Amino acid sequence: MKHPFYSLVPVIALFVALLSSCSKDEPFVLFPLEQDVALGAEVHQEILNMPDSLPILSQEQYPQAYQYLSSMMDRITASPDVLYKDRFGYTNVFIIRNDEELNAFATPGGYIYVYTGLIKYLETEDHLAGVLAHEIAHADRRHTVRAIQREVGLQLLLDVALGERQGAVVQVARALGNLQYSRSNEEEADQYSVRYLSNPQSPYACDGAAGFFEKLLAEGGTDGPPQFLSTHPSPANRVEDIQAEAQSLGCDADPCSTCSYQQFKNMLP
Ligand SMILES: [Zn+2]
Repeated sequence: MKHPFYSLVPVIALFVALLSSCSKDEPFVLFPLEQDVALGAEVHQEILNMPDSLPILSQEQYPQAYQYLSSMMDRITASPDVLYKDRFGYTNVFIIRNDEELNAFATPGGYIYVYTGLIKYLETEDHLAGVLAHEIAHADRRHTVRAIQREVGLQLLLDVALGERQGAVVQVARALGNLQYSRSNEEEADQYSVRYLSNPQSPYACDGAAGFFEKLLAEGGTDGPPQFLSTHPSPANRVEDIQAEAQSLGCDADPCSTCSYQQFKNMLP
């Protein structure tokens, strides 16, 4: 079977040669963009084979919920700051049926997954839009492929890319929900979430991503934020930074007046 990465082998080898010499601490291979797309598609296929740990809510049984979420994605990715809207799979947004997890994650290439637990925990659509925008930024700014390299190791990711190790993609798929992004990548994803939500087609408060942290702070949770939002900046600092970005853009931070978030929640099991 022809592997989608096969034709990229020389390119990858070149990037490895160039970039692994740049930093002894953290060699990072910037794959060609097509690689993010192909890796995302492979990982998604693997996720479909993991119904026990990542049970995807059926699109056939819950078409309205998916329509609702897709239209949210359309409004967020209308931003000109989303660079790979036409190449990444942002319309491929999936709901994971697990009410216990406050989580969301992205694959390289822009497949986005959000847990029912997070959707139900959040109180307004602006806040969910903020989380989705944050995840879009991780894919679009290509943080995800970088974090995967750090998590599973460059060699394993190359093995996946070169189709040389059966089952390696499983490790990548399993790592996704618990990826540790660098502090600067987290800050950038927060910042870009504000930019995305400030586009004219977005009805959302541009500082929507702050809402989640505000709720965590208000509840005084001792466990800290969930893994996907948990790297170094504290929730309080992130609220401040997100709001500072909103102020500097002068964007609309009024809550969405036309949204019916409860209606969306009611579409879920
Ligand atoms: Zn993040």
